[in-house]
Amino acid sequence: MESNNLSSCEDFFVHGSFSPFEKQPSSPSVIVIGGGISGIAAARALTNASFKVTLLESRDRIGGRVHTDYSFGCPVDIGASWLHGVCNENSLAPFIRLLGLKLYRTSGDNSILYDHDLESYALFGLDGSQVPQELVSKVGEIFEKILKEVNDFFPVLNAVKVREEHQDDMSVMHAISIVLGKHPELRQEGLADQVLQWYICRMEAWFAADVDAISLKNWDQEDVLTGGHGLMVHGYNPLIEALAEGLNIRLKHRVQKIVQRNNRVIVKAEGGRHFVADAAIITVPLGVLKANLIEFEPRLPDWKLSAISDIGVGMENKVALRFNDVFWPNVEVLGVVAPRSYSCGYFLNLHKATGNPVLVYMAAGSFAVDLERLSDDKAVDFVMLQLQSILPRAPRPEQYLVSRWGSDIDSLGSYSCDLVGKPPDLYERLRARLDNLYFAGEAASVDHSGSVHGAYSSGLWAAADCRRRLEVQCGVPDLLKLASLREEMSSSEIMVPLQISRM
Ligand SMILES: Cc1cc2nc3c(=O)[nH]c(=O)nc-3n(C[C@H](O)[C@H](O)[C@H](O)COP(=O)(O)OP(=O)(O)OC[C@H]3O[C@@H](n4cnc5c(N)ncnc54)[C@H](O)[C@@H]3O)c2cc1C
Repeated sequence: MESNNLSSCEDFFVHGSFSPFEKQPSSPSVIVIGGGISGIAAARALTNASFKVTLLESRDRIGGRVHTDYSFGCPVDIGASWLHGVCNENSLAPFIRLLGLKLYRTSGDNSILYDHDLESYALFGLDGSQVPQELVSKVGEIFEKILKEVNDFFPVLNAVKVREEHQDDMSVMHAISIVLGKHPELRQEGLADQVLQWYICRMEAWFAADVDAISLKNWDQEDVLTGGHGLMVHGYNPLIEALAEGLNIRLKHRVQKIVQRNNRVIVKAEGGRHFVADAAIITVPLGVLKANLIEFEPRLPDWKLSAISDIGVGMENKVALRFNDVFWPNVEVLGVVAPRSYSCGYFLNLHKATGNPVLVYMAAGSFAVDLERLSDDKAVDFVMLQLQSILPRAPRPEQYLVSRWGSDIDSLGSYSCDLVGKPPDLYERLRARLDNLYFAGEAASVDHSGSVHGAYSSGLWAAADCRRRLEVQCGVPDLLKLASLREEMSSSEIMVPLQISRM
């Protein structure tokens, strides 16, 4: 991936649009900062449009929060693993088709648990006894009723919805407690209440935030694509590799400073290397922007800084366990119910989707933060205690992986989330251009923040904006002789269907 050692200002000028040796205008030059899916999408689009593109990535790998690990001898996604919206409208669908990547669908449309349908899992109490499926379904329906009472246009109980009643935003937890106060018949007790807590825990996983931090005004405002949710059976990595093929990518280039001067952008990377271009597209995670790890000159305006600070960064972590054999039931998910959502557990059975003897434990919100405080061994001990509470004969795993997205200096969080009481235009402000600085990434996606396809589309959006402007500014007549990869791929949509399974 690492190409020649082109890193000084002078070198870059020769190859950019401001070469003192060239008479004809050459291609505009763009630096893309960050090699996750959004940065790769932007770099791909501009490279296809014959721009001079250099992508600077701090890690020694591309992909960012899309990271497929192969140390188990099979693909395991330690970051994103689902395609949210298994449909033609998903911007990633054409590539997934073309590459022949299989999807394992874990839910259809409108699942209240987002990733899973109600019938696809088995829940257990901490004493190891399985929760009767009728109770799981019954509480699932009650949870749905509670959410409709929280905010729904079609009342089930002819009551005024909490969101309509209250001007000020509040947390979803607060709204649920108001509903339960008004409708005592929806309150649950004992095991049924533990099942309800498990549903709340799953909701927290979707937002990577505790239910008392999720905004009532915004929690259901996302434009969820149709088609349900599909696990990438081969992992997300093949998609990243294919999109990045042939791009000019510099790994281990951590950007520390971005200077805008005289219509140029000067980017300074750790170790003193400088890059100069006509524009830059910034795709580093929101957590990195929040931590001020990159200095901007001139400093970012207040409206941009407040968007950075007001969008929340949620936390999700995974502990993947590889065993020699499959000793667990043949369901998509094993769940552990508990008196508080914080203590509930969730094991994704990858064997169902991929045939490999792997369970992936997922933690979200403050529980994911706490899990990161443990050593890998201790985290696995904790997860094994939960597993052994429901399957007492569970052996120690042969191998394990523990993610640490919160303390990882290159992510500092898992994905963005809507906090209580914040203005509605934050995502627009985050993605808004500052002269020749463009912003992309999942948190700059107005319609699909927190997702891979949202990050991808935001990279394309920033690239298109940047291209339009630079073509005018640099007087480039018709750079787009080469069809973009997106366009090539869309023609394949008709020929190759998505490969979806569910067993
Ligand atoms: C545990 C977990 C589970 C998830 N599950 C799903 C899922 O199932 N489905 C889904 O759609 N989404 C999921 N997501 C969210 C999804 O992974 C992200 O929305 C998406 O990958 C973000 O892409 P991005 O390009 O915006 O950011 P990133 O992938 O984070 O890319 C940013 C890049 O910038 C680099 N960088 C950081 N600092 C610097 C610097 N100073 N200089 C240069 N480079 C820098 C980073 O190394 C990184 O490569 C999950 C995320 C996590 C963490």
